[in-house]
Amino acid sequence: MAKQDLILLALNPAPILDLMDRTLRAAGFEVARAYDKSGLDKSVQESIPALMIIGERFAEQEGLSVSKEMLERFPTLPIILYAERDVTGLAKSALKLGLSGYLYPPLRMDDIVEEVQKSLARGRKLGDWLRREVKRTTSSLAEKAEISETERNKLEAIIANIQDGVIVVDHHKNILFVNRAIREIFSLDGKELTGKSLADVIENADLKALLVRSNEGPLKYHEINFDDGRVFNAQYTPIPKIGAAVTMQDISYLKELDRLKSDFIHTVSHDLRSPLTSILGYTELIERTGPLNENQTEFLQRLQGSIQHITALVNDLLDLGRLEAGFDTRREIVHLESVLKYSLDMFDGQIKKKNIQLTKEIMQDLQSIRANPIRIRQMMDNLIGNAIKYTPVEGSISVSISMREHQIILKVDDTGPGIPPEEQSHVFEKFYRATNAPEGVEGSGLGLAIVKSIVESHQGRVWVESTLGKGSSFSVLLPTQE
Ligand code: ADP
Repeated sequence: MAKQDLILLALNPAPILDLMDRTLRAAGFEVARAYDKSGLDKSVQESIPALMIIGERFAEQEGLSVSKEMLERFPTLPIILYAERDVTGLAKSALKLGLSGYLYPPLRMDDIVEEVQKSLARGRKLGDWLRREVKRTTSSLAEKAEISETERNKLEAIIANIQDGVIVVDHHKNILFVNRAIREIFSLDGKELTGKSLADVIENADLKALLVRSNEGPLKYHEINFDDGRVFNAQYTPIPKIGAAVTMQDISYLKELDRLKSDFIHTVSHDLRSPLTSILGYTELIERTGPLNENQTEFLQRLQGSIQHITALVNDLLDLGRLEAGFDTRREIVHLESVLKYSLDMFDGQIKKKNIQLTKEIMQDLQSIRANPIRIRQMMDNLIGNAIKYTPVEGSISVSISMREHQIILKVDDTGPGIPPEEQSHVFEKFYRATNAPEGVEGSGLGLAIVKSIVESHQGRVWVESTLGKGSSFSVLLPTQE
């Protein structure tokens, strides 16, 4: 038995109080008395008793309700209720409340000591169990922490050593982490970077442009070019509660492949042009050599049609090559509405032939743009030409030009077959033709690639919105002269 265990007596003054006091002291306990509720609170808090004996009534209050309050604050404190009479209901309530013992007269000294020891032992067991549980939970938490620490180290090692560059920034675009690849890509050596502004420490115009574009949301494709010819594709991914991650993959070899392919196409197209011109020339000469029969005339016409088709394709390829190589530097003041007029005049015959209803909407006082008029015309012809080509007979097309802030917006809407949603992002790629392109509608899949190159070389943007079976709407945004 722990000799120094303190027993707190919360009983109204009566002979039983003195009896308990004496008995417990004799049994080797320390004893303290509380005379009112505030004294009781103070004693429980300050002297931390090992057990409390409370009277059925204490300081004008029900012993049970005082006990209930005590147990809410000190759930492990063993409490014995002393009842003036043995009443079953009271004993039951005491047990229900979670009191650890129950005493009632007639009381012998042994009864008191025995009940106190029993309650103390139970209390100790509960304490031991609690301590064990706390220990178990803490050690399992520590184990978990250890596992996540190992996992974290593993993850850090992977990110630090992968070939792709990784930069993590906070919401203010200050650096939280860069991996080894990033240090190599930007030749940062051992520079201290954490906490510094990304735009300040990494001097690269394309990376800065990425940070500006990042306000639009996640970015999948953004090229970062270096003076020594290296090209990286960068992705910008916002990370909730942290900021964002920029990852970079070296695509220099893919770019080189693309360049070789473009060079090849350019050379072949170039070499094909002269023989094609000469074939077309000779087919025209045949007609002059003498009268042809009906079959010969028809075959000759088909031959000429095919040669013109291949020539158009070759011209498109050459155009694309020139545009992609950045040779298009001619800039003049261009009024989009007059270019549109010429383009629509050219298509007038086709529009009438298909009985297409054309609507034109041009905003007043449009500003001009600085552009290459030939390319702008080509871009417009391709978009309007497609709208006419893909819109069925009796359909409708609407063309509008408007202005917003410092941008001119050209829109070409049609009531054609539309483009499947998953293919819409591909129609601007070279040679791509949508799977639902109507049979018999010819095309090379280069028109929109040329449109995209022209628009981008004028610092603009082009996109399509389309509903399958209803129609398509192509929009071009170009900066005004100012
Ligand atoms: P094409 O020479 O095949 O018309 P484009 O590059 O101009 O090539 O267009 C690519 C593809 O996009 C087309 O093959 C067609 O499937 C789709 N497309 C373009 N414009 C339209 C349109 N106005 N309506 C429906 N589909 C279109």
